[in-house]
Order: sequence, then structure tokens, then C-alpha cells
Amino acid sequence: MATPTVSARSADEELRDVQETSCCIVGGGPAGAMLSLLLARRGIPVTLLEMHKDFDREFRGDTIHPSTLEILDQIGLADKLHEIPHTKISGPTIKFADGDLRPFDLSRLKTRFPYILLVAQVRFLEFITREAAKYPSFRLVMQANVTQLLKENGAVRGVRYLAPDGAHEIRTPLTVGADGRFSLLRRLAGFEPVKTSPPMDVLWFRLPKLPGEPEIVGGALGGIGGGRIFILLERNDYWQAALVFRKGQYQQLHSAGVQAIRKSIAEIEPRFAPHAESLTDWHQITLLSVESSRCPLWHKPGLLLIGDAAHVMSPVGGVGINYAIQDSVVATNVLSGRLKSGRVSDADLAEVQRQREWPTRVVQSAQSFLQKRVIAGALNTAQAGNAPWQLRMFTKIPIVRDIPPRLIAFGPRRVRLRDV
Ligand SMILES: Cc1cc2nc3c(=O)[nH]c(=O)nc-3n(C[C@H](O)[C@H](O)[C@H](O)COP(=O)(O)OP(=O)(O)OC[C@H]3O[C@@H](n4cnc5c(N)ncnc54)[C@H](O)[C@@H]3O)c2cc1C
Repeated sequence: MATPTVSARSADEELRDVQETSCCIVGGGPAGAMLSLLLARRGIPVTLLEMHKDFDREFRGDTIHPSTLEILDQIGLADKLHEIPHTKISGPTIKFADGDLRPFDLSRLKTRFPYILLVAQVRFLEFITREAAKYPSFRLVMQANVTQLLKENGAVRGVRYLAPDGAHEIRTPLTVGADGRFSLLRRLAGFEPVKTSPPMDVLWFRLPKLPGEPEIVGGALGGIGGGRIFILLERNDYWQAALVFRKGQYQQLHSAGVQAIRKSIAEIEPRFAPHAESLTDWHQITLLSVESSRCPLWHKPGLLLIGDAAHVMSPVGGVGINYAIQDSVVATNVLSGRLKSGRVSDADLAEVQRQREWPTRVVQSAQSFLQKRVIAGALNTAQAGNAPWQLRMFTKIPIVRDIPPRLIAFGPRRVRLRDV
């Protein structure tokens, strides 16, 4: 198929135009943006539809893991990404009653990038889509709110979207739903994710950097107390902070006011009590309602779900962005040749799910274990307890201590781009 073209103006008054492309990707998050870039650089006509007017939205995590950095390195973009303001973390130091513990340390991993790169997600998405725009087969439409799936003989054959100037349609042999955890495409396709309910929710906020800051080993720290977990990630000119609390307590926390958040921080990490004074309003705080889910089926003829639309990862280990990107790499490996020939079968789409479902299950199980054995315990006690023996054991035995960092950095299966 040639580059996307405007083929006709519909007789329908509301419909502004109908366009054609080889692949229409709905959602300009990490999964959709990355898949667009990878397909476009292979000369495949691809249209990316994003409902917002820019990428600068609520905080959704800024973690770029070694796996993603290796993939960007394969296509010559890793060094360029490092030119964007960033910090690096190799693993948190967590304060337990029986002493500090580093549950994972990426610095020992055998990779060119033994760290998590923290880059503002907005800058990352701008970077990826700017690179994609260098290929003539890429088209990005912002403020394109997809509202319908177009179907023909039981197969999805594109989407209808609303833009400020009216309705448009895109006709395509493959529609990719990369529209996130509240995916409309998943709902329109009739897929129901199976959900588990992790025991916690998270408040995310920034704290200012003050003169004479303490040095944080590994770039991140965690503390426990009063039924909360406080996490800090080092950024260039501020601290990215999170307060983890028991699911179901948000209303109670909210009515206690921001001063209750300041008090929690001061109790768990007195060194950061002065920083917490900057928290004066709930608008400074983003709630992450923690979810973990997986769709039993990620595809039907003409439609594939990837990223959070297919599986929402718990924030334990911060792997959501990385997993979304790994889905897009596998989709590129499996589907590029098919997209070029214009024949993508349901079996091809099933192959993408087959390759990605197992790693997703493995990591969700590991997250669930940690949530039950470590996090739930910490959230149910007033005082910081001892570190669970399993955690201490993992960090002491040389053969096993690299399992958690490897899982966090790459997942159970290292994903590489084929035919670069
Ligand atoms: C507060 C918070 C903190 C997080 N912290 C981390 C972290 O530290 N590390 C980490 O790895 N993960 C983190 N996550 C999870 C991470 O954000 C997701 O796993 C990741 O963004 C998934 O990428 P995605 O591309 O699948 O979906 P998303 O990033 O959700 O992108 C989906 C896109 O689709 C667009 N869209 C939705 N519906 C439509 C429509 N109808 N038409 C057109 N466009 C549409 C949306 O606007 C959005 O841009 C966090 C999430 C939250 C909410």
C-alpha cells in the first residue's frame, strides 16, 4: 500500500474525509508512539491518532528501562535520548527496622545501560514522534478522539475519530489499540480484562530540591511507617515522590488534608520534612489508582491491543512503560513483513499475544507476590518492621541476587528488534 492518502470525501455531511493507511494506531502513549516509529522506519504507512492536543499531561511515570534503551540503541537513538535532561537510578535503598536494604541493583547488569533513565514522559514522547516524523510514511493526528471501530464481514477495518473540524475515518487492514488502561477499543471489541486488586494506591507529587541535599545511594530511597511507604526518586531539579497507602483509604486521606501527607513524610523521613512544607494543595498531587489486569484475548481480525490496553501492570518495579514498549517491538518483529504485503491474519496477531503474554504473566505474578508478602505487611503496621527474609536472601546470594534486577530491566525474556 502506498503512503496514506485522502481517498474520498463522504456524502455523509458530518464526515470530513476517509483516509487509507496500512496501520492505524490509536493512542500516542509509549506503546503507540514507539510502534509508529518502528513501523515508519520500515517504510510502512502508519497513522497515529492521539486524542489530546499535546503530550504534556498528568504525570504517568518517567522510567525508561535498560530494555528500552537497548532497543533505542539498536536503531541509533539511545545516545540522542541521553541528550534530553535526565537522571539515572540503579535501585532504591529501603529503610527497614533491621537496617537498609537494596532490593535490586541494576548497576551489576551486563548491558551498556545498567540503570533506569528518568526522562519526563512528555519529552520522551515528543522525541519518539519527532523521530518518526522523519519518515514520510508516518502521520500523526493530534486531537483525534477515536469513537468507533469500522467493521466489515466481522473484521475491524479501521476507525472513526472526531477532530475539532468534525468526523474522519481511517480505513486500514490493521488497527492497533494502544489507548491505555481505560481502552475504548478494548471495550468496543467486547474484550473484558481479568482484574486483580493490588492492596495499595499511590499518590505522586514533586518535592523541591533544597541546599545541602543528602546523597541518595542508587538515586532512589524508600521508607516505611504509619501504614505508608514513602518513595523518592532523584531528578535534576526536584524530587519525584510517591506515598503508597492501603487501597480504600483515599477519601480518608483526602479529608485529613495535605497536612496529613506532610506529617507522614516527616514521620517516615524526617530529613524531608522541610521539603514537604511545599505541599499545600491537592492539585500538586496525582492519584494512581493501582490496578493489575490482563485481557484473555488481545486480538480479533483486524485489531490488536498492546500496552496498558492489553495488560495493566502494577507499579511495583515501574515496568508499565517498558512492557508497553516491548509489546510494540514484538508487534514490529511479527507484523512488519505482513503489513508490507497487506495481509495480516488473525494468526499473526495471535503470535504477538503468544510472545508477550507469558512475560506479562510472570512479572504480574512476581508483583503479586511482593504485594502480598512485603507491601501489604508494610501498609498494615504502624512501625517499620524487619525486611522479609526472602528479600534479604535474594540480595545476598550471588546467583539469585541478579534475578530481580534482570526481571525489572528486561522482563523474563529479553526483547530485541529483528532485522534492524
Ligand atoms: C500516576 C501514574 C504513574 C505511573 N508511573 C509509572 C512509572 O513510574 N513507570 C512505569 O513504567 N509506568 C508507570 N505508570 C504506568 C504507565 O504510565 C503505563 O504503563 C504506560 O503509560 C502504558 O503505555 P500505553 O502506551 O500502553 O498507554 P498510555 O500511556 O496510557 O497511552 C494511551 C494513550 O492513548 C490515548 N487515548 C486514549 N483513548 C483514546 C481515544 N479514544 N482516541 C485517541 N487517543 C486515545 C491517551 O490520551 C494516551 O495518550 C504510571 C501510571 C500512572 C497513572
